[in-house]
This record gives sequence, C-alpha cells and structure tokens, in this order.
Amino acid sequence: MLNLSVVLEDSAREFPDRTAVIFGDLRLPYSLVNTVANQVANLLVSRGVGKGDKVALACPNLPYFPFVYFGILKTGATVVPLNVLLQSREISYHLDDSEAKAFFCFEGTPELPLGERGRKGFEESGAEHFFVLPAQAFATESPYGESLWAALDGVSGEFETVQTAPDDTAVILYTSGTTGQPKGAELSHQNMLLNAMVSDDMFPRQGDDVFLATLPLFHSFGQTTMMNVGFRRRAALVLLPRFEPAEALKLMAAEKVTMFAGVPTMYWAMLTAVHTGAAEVPSTLVTAVSGGAAIPVEVLKDFSATFGVGVLEGYGLSETSPVAAFNQPGRPTKPGSIGTPVWGVEMKLIDAEWNTQDELGEIAVRGHNVMKGYYNRPEATAEVMKDGWFRTGDVARRDEDGYYFIVDRAKDMIIRGGFNVYPREIEEVLMTHPAVSLAAVVGVPHDSHGEEIKAYVIRKADATVTDDELIAWSREMMAAYKYPRIVEFRDALPMTATGKILKRELR
Ligand code: AMP
Repeated sequence: MLNLSVVLEDSAREFPDRTAVIFGDLRLPYSLVNTVANQVANLLVSRGVGKGDKVALACPNLPYFPFVYFGILKTGATVVPLNVLLQSREISYHLDDSEAKAFFCFEGTPELPLGERGRKGFEESGAEHFFVLPAQAFATESPYGESLWAALDGVSGEFETVQTAPDDTAVILYTSGTTGQPKGAELSHQNMLLNAMVSDDMFPRQGDDVFLATLPLFHSFGQTTMMNVGFRRRAALVLLPRFEPAEALKLMAAEKVTMFAGVPTMYWAMLTAVHTGAAEVPSTLVTAVSGGAAIPVEVLKDFSATFGVGVLEGYGLSETSPVAAFNQPGRPTKPGSIGTPVWGVEMKLIDAEWNTQDELGEIAVRGHNVMKGYYNRPEATAEVMKDGWFRTGDVARRDEDGYYFIVDRAKDMIIRGGFNVYPREIEEVLMTHPAVSLAAVVGVPHDSHGEEIKAYVIRKADATVTDDELIAWSREMMAAYKYPRIVEFRDALPMTATGKILKRELR
C-alpha cells in the first residue's frame, strides 16, 4: 500500500489517544481525525466519487483541512487544494482545469467571504458536488449549500483505504510557475509520501512534538512540512489560520510549541514583534525551518541571537513536493545557503540549453520528489522537464562543499544598462544598514538603462534615514551598476497568501 493517507492512519492506529490537532480550545486525538476522514471517504464513495476522480478543497488552516484532505486520499481520488484568496472566476477556472468532480469549500467569515465566492465558482464550473464546511462547528445548515455535517449524518467512521500505485496522483497543486495561467503540478503518492518521510527523518524525534501550523496547508510548504511530516511523527498540530506575529508567539508559549516552519517574512515579523515589546520569546521552541523564499542573513542571525534557536533554511517548489535541499541537522549549516540536496534527490546547475555548469547556473532537480508533470499541459511540462530533470527557474551557485546558494529567481533578474543585477544581493546589503528593517528590490522601466534599480524599504521603528541618505550609503557599498537610484519607504509590503513578498506587484 502506498497511499499518502498512511501518515495519518499509522499514527491513529498506534497512538489513537494522542492529540493530533489543536484549534482554539479544541483538542482532537488521532483516532478522531482518522474517523472523520473515514466518514468523508464514505460520503464521497456514496456520491459516486472514487479512484481517478479529482476533488477540490478550499479551506484555511482549520480542522476541516485534514478531515477532507485525508478523506479524499483514502478513496484513491486526487486532492486539489485551492488558495483561499481566489475569486469566484478563478475558482471555476481551477475546478475546470483540474476536472474536479466535487468541491469542499469553507463557508467563510466576514473577512474571508469564501462561501459566496466558492458557491459562485462552483455554479460556473462543471463540478457536480458541492459541500460547505460551516464556520460554526457542527452546523448542519448553510446558506451556500449542503453542510458537511448534514452530509455526514449517520455515515460510518470505518473505511478501507483504496490501494494506490506509487505513480497514482495524490495531489494537484496549482502554481503560477514562471509565466501565465496557474498550472496544476501533478504529484504522486510516492512523491508526497517520500518527501514527508525524508523531511521527517532529518529531525530527531523530541518525544511529543508540537508544531505551529500557520503556513497555509493548501500550499506545498505547509502541507508537507507541517501536516504530513507532523502527522507522521505523531506530533500535535496547532492550527493558526491567519498569521499574526504576536498571536503566533503567544500561542507558541501557551501550547509549548517545539517546531515551527515559516517563510522569511514570518521570521522578520516575529523579530519585529519581540524588538518592539509586542511579544515575548517562547521558551520551548527547538526547531525552526525557513523556506519559500531566501531568508536575509541579517534576519537569520538576529533570530538565533534573540530566540536562541538556529534557523535551518530549506529550498523547494510545489513541483518538487516541495523539499529539494536543506541545511540538514547534524551537518554544518551555512548562512545564506539552502544546504545540500536531501536524501534521494540530485541537483545540478544548467544553462538555458540544459548544459551542465560548474559553479553558477539554474538549478535542475531529479529524484523521487519531482512531479509527474503539469496536469493536462504536455507543452508546459516539456519546457521544464528533460530526462527526469526538472528546471526550477532559480539561479544558484555551488561551493566546494556542494552547498547551494540561491542567487535569485531568473525572472527577478534586473538588466540595467546591459549588466545583470540580482535583487537579492542588493537586499542583503541594504538590510545591513542600521535603519533598515526589510528591503525588496525590483527593476523599473528606464529610458536609457532599460531598467533602473528601485528599493522598497521598511524602516526600523524610530529610524529617520531619508532616501537620499540611503542612496548615498548604497553607493559606497555597491558597484555603480548595482546600487539603487530610487528608494521608496513603505509601512508594509504586498505579500502572497503564504507570506512571500510579491515582487510582481511592486514592479
Ligand atoms: P512555490 O512553488 O510557491 O513553492 O515557490 C517555489 C519558489 O520559491 C522557488 O522556485 C524559489 O524561487 C522560491 N524559494 C523556495 N525556497 C527558497 C529559498 N530557501 N531561497 C530562495 N528562494 C526560495
């Protein structure tokens, strides 16, 4: 049997009473999470949904997420997790593009009116079944359609999981890739299961681990490293649907959280909260993992000094299930590096024609974690896959110890007056300035240089540096073709639902 749902089932069998999910005052044991997932599986089968079908799920980090995710997997069907910020037009696009037969959608809240958008998106799509996940636990009615709780009434909590082959598709994760319309990265049971196992096995068991799960579970990073790894290691998952740094830190202290995984902006925000006195450092944290974007070295250093916990940086993409490289525990870590490829995964550097490069190039990945392809998109797949290798679009250099350092995303490169400039390098320098809290650099159109370098900067509290001062300082620190000529101060930067800085929007 190679069904990804084994990560839950195994723990439910061996440790039925251990807490799997913590949400507010709720404490749900493994046996209960597995039983509700079994009910969801029975429900789907009773409506004619099963192996080979696709089932979409739009839900923030609430107990519903694992109930439905594993319920779908158990039937042998494929889960299509959707970003909860999608508008109805985008929802119907995703439902139709993935050929979803059924759709589970959170009812929403005034701040996140998902039920309305979900219902409309469903009606404009070819999907057949719509289930609402009510905002109020166990509510059997909803203005948007059939409540999950009504549908589960009287449904058995026993289910025999459908056998799957290693290459059967477990999840389709939508990603914009480098261009155009969102595409569904098709990930097999083997892709997802091995990535969870390899990621889990890197970390020594600490007894009863407690994860803070605030990265969205609909995104590959949160899904694998928090939920699938967490359930495999019989940890308790503390769900926090909306990341707010002070609240996250309070929850860490209250629930004695031992493990955290986040994107760099989360680390930055937690540090800011501590430095401004809005929150205190929790004492139980042992493991901190960063990924999804490059963590500035200044943030990395500040976090270990302030929290007393070293941040381990990893690297991956939706297309690689996601973990590809990691600063692995027990090996030397290098600040600014994404570490070395994880077990069973190879990486190399290539040029635009797939020729291998020695020290600098685009990262290509091969191994058990690489997706089957983009769903129903052979051309887009052929652009990025060759002989089992997947090209990532990320430029990196490799040192003599085999550690990879991300230079930047190829698509974020700025070409100023014929020189290639990578924003990350400039951001790292800007963040060493005592008044700079966070910096994001982009290229803006320029008549004679093609592009000009512009920095968006969040100043530290009480800092008064002006744009002219920062530009003058930058000129001393960087070559003439690199330093930013335009600086704009902001209080906040636009971010994706995962918390990555949206360079596209800044441009
Ligand atoms: P996604 O498919 O949404 O998971 O995004 C994948 C992209 O995130 C990669 O192609 C990288 O550009 C970026 N990324 C992930 N981890 C890192 C990291 N540690 N350093 C720099 N970029 C990263």
